[in-house]
Amino acid sequence: MKKVAWITDDFYLEHDTDGGPESPERLESINYQMKTLHEELMLVEPREATVDVIEMIHSPEMISFAIDSDAILDKQSYKVAVKAVGAGLVAVDGVKNHEFERAFCAVRPPGHHATPTESMGFCIFNNIAVTARYAQNEGYKKVMIIDFDVHHGNGTQDAFYDDDTVFFFSTHQVDSYPKTGKESETGSGKGVGYTANYRFEANSSDKEYLEIYGKELTRAYNFFNPDIILVSAGYDIHESDPLVQMDVTTEGIAKIVRNILDLGDKPVIFFLEGGYSSNDLGLNVVATVKEMLK
Ligand SMILES: [Zn+2]
Repeated sequence: MKKVAWITDDFYLEHDTDGGPESPERLESINYQMKTLHEELMLVEPREATVDVIEMIHSPEMISFAIDSDAILDKQSYKVAVKAVGAGLVAVDGVKNHEFERAFCAVRPPGHHATPTESMGFCIFNNIAVTARYAQNEGYKKVMIIDFDVHHGNGTQDAFYDDDTVFFFSTHQVDSYPKTGKESETGSGKGVGYTANYRFEANSSDKEYLEIYGKELTRAYNFFNPDIILVSAGYDIHESDPLVQMDVTTEGIAKIVRNILDLGDKPVIFFLEGGYSSNDLGLNVVATVKEMLK
């Protein structure tokens, strides 16, 4: 059995989105369903990321805007966002110190739409992108980011588009928000070939997903041979999700996760991104963590 860290904080519930779909109830559902697995996990608390760490990805202007803005954020949101980034940092520290081999960061707000210069799409800071840079500073020189959220991780792609030390592998629904992530977007400069995008038609199911999360993912992994894998885990691919039209089942999600974990014997850190059907969100996270424990 693998040593798996569960990294979360009730403070993440304090980020209030005024009844929007990215609600505190999402994390409450996860917390409720995950209680059955607590005894098998290392329960780890996140820390606050410092501004200089966040600046490894984001511009000082954007960070100042997030601190000051009442327009897009409630009072607590900046502090919550800083702690969401900090979950990834704690995860990297833990795998580096051999305290655990895998980690799940159950964070709010999500991060993968936040670009280096702009908060957008429910995301304030790009948790996974900052963690990738932090991991590189800690000795994990080649970072593979796998993003199975139904929406394109445009912010993560932007952060590493011209970079050959971070491989970004993303699947998403065609024409869904924010409409980026065409197959022709493969990187620029020395980053050409280090971004891979796959778009699915609406109503794609386990079969279509597992074709990509089989042969295509393995090919990218073998080409890049990363030192660590970070996963943007968006459960809005599930058939129950109210915002989009995918037909992936909980069993399908477990198989996607299994294929990611079976790529090689490298540390793997999952980050909660989307997923807006509260009850199923909890069950899908449980299915993920059960695979991580195997
Ligand atoms: Zn999403």
